[in-house]
Amino acid sequence: MSNMTEEKPHLVRQAIQLPAGASVVVIGAGVTGLSAAWWLARDGVDVVVIDKGIVGAEASSRNGGGATHYQSPLFLEEQRLWPMMDDLLGYPTEYRPDRIIFATNPIHLRSYARIAENIRNLGFKVTDLDSKVVRELVPLAGRDNLGGIYVHTGGQANPQRTVQAYAWAAQDLGARIFQHMPALRIETAGGRAVSVVTPSGTIGCDHVVIAAGPQSEALARDVGLFMPLAAARAEMIVTEAVPLMKIGGVDGNGLYGRQTLRGNLAYGGGWHEWLPEQPLTGKVSRPSTPTVQHLALRVAQLFPGAAHLRVIRAWAGIVENTPDGRPVLDRPTGPGNVTVASMSGVGFGLSPAVGHALRDLVTEGRCTFTDIDKLCLSRFATLRPDWRSEKGWFTPATVTA
Ligand SMILES: Cc1cc2nc3c(=O)[nH]c(=O)nc-3n(C[C@H](O)[C@H](O)[C@H](O)COP(=O)(O)OP(=O)(O)OC[C@H]3O[C@@H](n4cnc5c(N)ncnc54)[C@H](O)[C@@H]3O)c2cc1C
Repeated sequence: MSNMTEEKPHLVRQAIQLPAGASVVVIGAGVTGLSAAWWLARDGVDVVVIDKGIVGAEASSRNGGGATHYQSPLFLEEQRLWPMMDDLLGYPTEYRPDRIIFATNPIHLRSYARIAENIRNLGFKVTDLDSKVVRELVPLAGRDNLGGIYVHTGGQANPQRTVQAYAWAAQDLGARIFQHMPALRIETAGGRAVSVVTPSGTIGCDHVVIAAGPQSEALARDVGLFMPLAAARAEMIVTEAVPLMKIGGVDGNGLYGRQTLRGNLAYGGGWHEWLPEQPLTGKVSRPSTPTVQHLALRVAQLFPGAAHLRVIRAWAGIVENTPDGRPVLDRPTGPGNVTVASMSGVGFGLSPAVGHALRDLVTEGRCTFTDIDKLCLSRFATLRPDWRSEKGWFTPATVTA
């Protein structure tokens, strides 16, 4: 009888050869960790990325793809970089510029006027749209829409394509990425991080970047840092395809999302289901039917011309929320050689700029292109231990207990 493993060598399980050391170990191969690795590799830094699963399999590939974060100190860099990303990475992200936000009720219309004012104050063009022009630009909109705004900046990209592009681009520059390689803990000596322990061995390093999404809190604890995060599940739906609209990023009715290049409408927004602290390894979250139904209803309200479309896919992703909703990007003085990044739900769009900031923090000790002081970890130093219940962010387990 023939030996099956000899006939099919691809079935032989190879032992993974982890390097004994690297200058920088990045924990987490989402957009944050991958962008950081790419920026570091561009500088010739010897960087290793490890992920408990596969590249971008968590929030980074499950999001709305929006890239218009005008409230962030990284906004200008986000806007500068996105139009160049395909060229810089050498792989497609399917980035498409601009954004339309239109209203189906007067309260939303007033809030979109405030968004327009904020973006104009940052020096970008925003055009007010009446109901008729909305219909011309967004043929799926209803006749009773109340108008909206056209933001001549920002945009959206394909999250799956983008994580893959970061990973390939980082590898092209020498970064090494290890999948199915959870960080079990970070070891310290003399108050500094010295290595990252995985099931396949320990990687010594000069610097650790913690970019592990909701699991960052547990890893930061290893090096004496308090990084308060609350995980929440959010869902998205995808409809059948319709002819391409002029602008792929159209928001409203509490929804965010995009039209894919194939024509599908991919939308999320609304209810978040609060979850307990996430384990360092664990199962992928599934969509919940009531939320998916509600999303489908609101997509049909926003786009009456798409109300007949069937929902062909739905998924859930875990959002990493900080207590004040702002990201954390910091290299705290103790331990000094650990940089932490958690994006609080805005990490996809900001990722090109975040990678730049992380590269700066690791190599220069400070962000060189904008002031990120308000993203520091120390702002939570006086947070009360029961902060989650103060905010009403209860998990199903705490509600039923
Ligand atoms: C439904 C949804 C819609 C969203 N829409 C948008 C949007 O339109 N625009 C926007 O900008 N943002 C959006 N976001 C938020 C955005 O997706 C996140 O902020 C961003 O992806 C965070 O990226 P990350 O790399 O920091 O974290 P993650 O994507 O969570 O990646 C962290 C990685 O760390 C790995 N990891 C965890 N623990 C360990 C461990 N112990 N060892 C090794 N690896 C580990 C995980 O496997 C994962 O791959 C949305 C999120 C969701 C869920």
